Amino acid sequence: MARIVMKFGGTSVGDISRIRNVARHVKREVDAGHEVAVVVSAMSGKTNELVGWAREASPMHDAREYDTVVAAGEQISSGLLAITLQGIGVDARSWQGWQIPIRTDNSHGAARIQEIDGTELIKRFGFGQVAVISGFQGIGPDNRIATLGRGGSDTSAVAIAAAVKADRCDIYTDVDGVYTTDPRIEPKARRLSRISFEEMLEMASLGAKVLQVRSVELAMVHKVRTFVRSSFEDPDAPGMGDFDNPPGTLICDEDEIVEQQVVTGIAYAKDEAQLSLRRVSDRPGVAASIFGPLAEANLNVDMIVQNISEDGSFTDMTFTVPSSDLDKALGVLNRMKETITFDMVQSEAGMSKVSVIGIGMRSHAGVAATAFKALAEKGINIRAITTSEIKISILIDGAYTELAVRTLHSVYGLDKQ
Ligand code: ASP
Ligand code: MG
Repeated sequence: MARIVMKFGGTSVGDISRIRNVARHVKREVDAGHEVAVVVSAMSGKTNELVGWAREASPMHDAREYDTVVAAGEQISSGLLAITLQGIGVDARSWQGWQIPIRTDNSHGAARIQEIDGTELIKRFGFGQVAVISGFQGIGPDNRIATLGRGGSDTSAVAIAAAVKADRCDIYTDVDGVYTTDPRIEPKARRLSRISFEEMLEMASLGAKVLQVRSVELAMVHKVRTFVRSSFEDPDAPGMGDFDNPPGTLICDEDEIVEQQVVTGIAYAKDEAQLSLRRVSDRPGVAASIFGPLAEANLNVDMIVQNISEDGSFTDMTFTVPSSDLDKALGVLNRMKETITFDMVQSEAGMSKVSVIGIGMRSHAGVAATAFKALAEKGINIRAITTSEIKISILIDGAYTELAVRTLHSVYGLDKQ
């Protein structure tokens, strides 16, 4: 017997027939003798509709009332799933965030979970009751409903799994796992059976949209073994209920990954803009004076490359922001022209960042050189490079994104096996 948290996203609970299908997945685990808590999202499209209504009512709406409105989608799904489970003979009870309670901070609309009291849930596991919990919501210090930010029910699921000390948090979604790269770009992409928390964090922040980034951070901190799998497969197909080896991708501690690959995946982020400040005076505090105001303007700066100046007087500073933020970034920089001295800003939108990710890189030499050579052979020019212990990110012209992803995917042998 194990304790499992099962999370179903919007498309998995999109209508009553999909909810029936979810109920069969849940029943399978209950029949196998496991203790089960289910976390659900709103039916797909509902949260957008609710957000739209709040905006229509007043563009300047109060954040607490926004939360009252948008949390409603999950309330409906949890009630419907509880009804459906009861209908097929599974003892189930719905739970809203405030009933557990899931305590959050006061940032309505983007609240962070602070504490979850799992006592009542655990007590009811004891007599075989399934908890069907509304994701995306909790209760703030003001005793009002607070939501966690869009996509937040992944975070709810991982946090609940940590609170009840679940053996695993199964995230059921519309894809059947995490792939070595985007299969829409490279049909030879393979499903990974395991990926480490750190690698997944890099993949997720780079746009592999299977999981909300925050949920991966939380899983890493609390070491919640998180499993990505499909809700669209037949719930009773062979192997689906195999606890130790179900179909999907396990996100886990690297100690659990026996056969480490040097490179695990290739990720990419399109629509990046590059900004270069030329001849910036090179003195202590200059980087702070550039990136401080950009941060205050809420601009998400990504790759930062600064060169060592030739004689200690001038340097160049290059960084990227999402293309949609380019104008805003240019505005901030031009306003600062008196405080930071530089000759000019050059900028270009339509760039892509392609990244090679793998914990095996820590102990292998030559991984970066392999990427550079492979891209050179395809005539792809590299504009900027940044690296971390487990990642090499390369900025290229957006038109070459697909070619670069496929080239890197094959040069590290990811399309084999
Ligand atoms: N329903 C919420 C949203 O669409 C939360 C979630 O689905 O994770 O953002
Ligand atoms: Mg989601």
